[in-house]
Amino acid sequence: MIRLAIQKSGRLSEDSLNLIRECGISFIASSYKLKTEATNFPLEILYLRDDDIPGYVQDGVADLGIVGQNVLVEAGYPELELEPLGFSKCRLSLAVARAAHYDSVADLQNKNIATSYPAILGKYLAEHGVQANLHTISGSVEIAPSIGLAEAICDIVSSGSTLLGNGLREVETVFRSEAVLIANQHLNEEKRELLEQLQFRMQAVRRARR
Ligand code: ATP
Ligand code: ZN
Repeated sequence: MIRLAIQKSGRLSEDSLNLIRECGISFIASSYKLKTEATNFPLEILYLRDDDIPGYVQDGVADLGIVGQNVLVEAGYPELELEPLGFSKCRLSLAVARAAHYDSVADLQNKNIATSYPAILGKYLAEHGVQANLHTISGSVEIAPSIGLAEAICDIVSSGSTLLGNGLREVETVFRSEAVLIANQHLNEEKRELLEQLQFRMQAVRRARR
């Protein structure tokens, strides 16, 4: 039996469940349960908050997981990634007030930046030689400039309409992300064998979708 952690409810959930189903694996999904067992493959599915998935896979509570690269890299476990899955594509971008002066990332020197991704943003700024004050907040990052908490933000952008609605403009792409399959690095022989079968099916599904 192998354990796969997926997001309980959110932007990754439906595509994760669909991928498993398209792999020919049957199970009864239930919105109130924490886990389900597949009926025709030795797979157990755990439903978790996406932020908890990298840590649980690292610790071996789950053997496998499906999570966004943004969350994986922010958690500090990029080495768990096995392969990209082609869905939940998004980007982490820096944005400033629409009227603010901005030529380059150097303009963020000594500025206050609100983000839920301090590790990814910190690395990006360091690579660009910029020193800034990062304020880590877990939600509604895009309102930070309008309430005077920060001059800039770094957050997930998909359409840009949320930014526009908050008087912000996107100025830099910091990180590009999509959903990835991750695995614990110390799987036993039996689990490695099951993982191989699963990856073989996932790759066939992805080829068929193209
Ligand atoms: P949880 O309650 O599980 O912590 P969450 O609110 O943190 O959920 P979601 O908004 O459901 O997370 O997003 C999950 C993941 O989906 C993100 O980490 C990112 O990888 C991806 N994602 C986020 N926004 C978008 C988007 N607009 N388009 C596509 N993918 C996105
Ligand atoms: Zn989350």
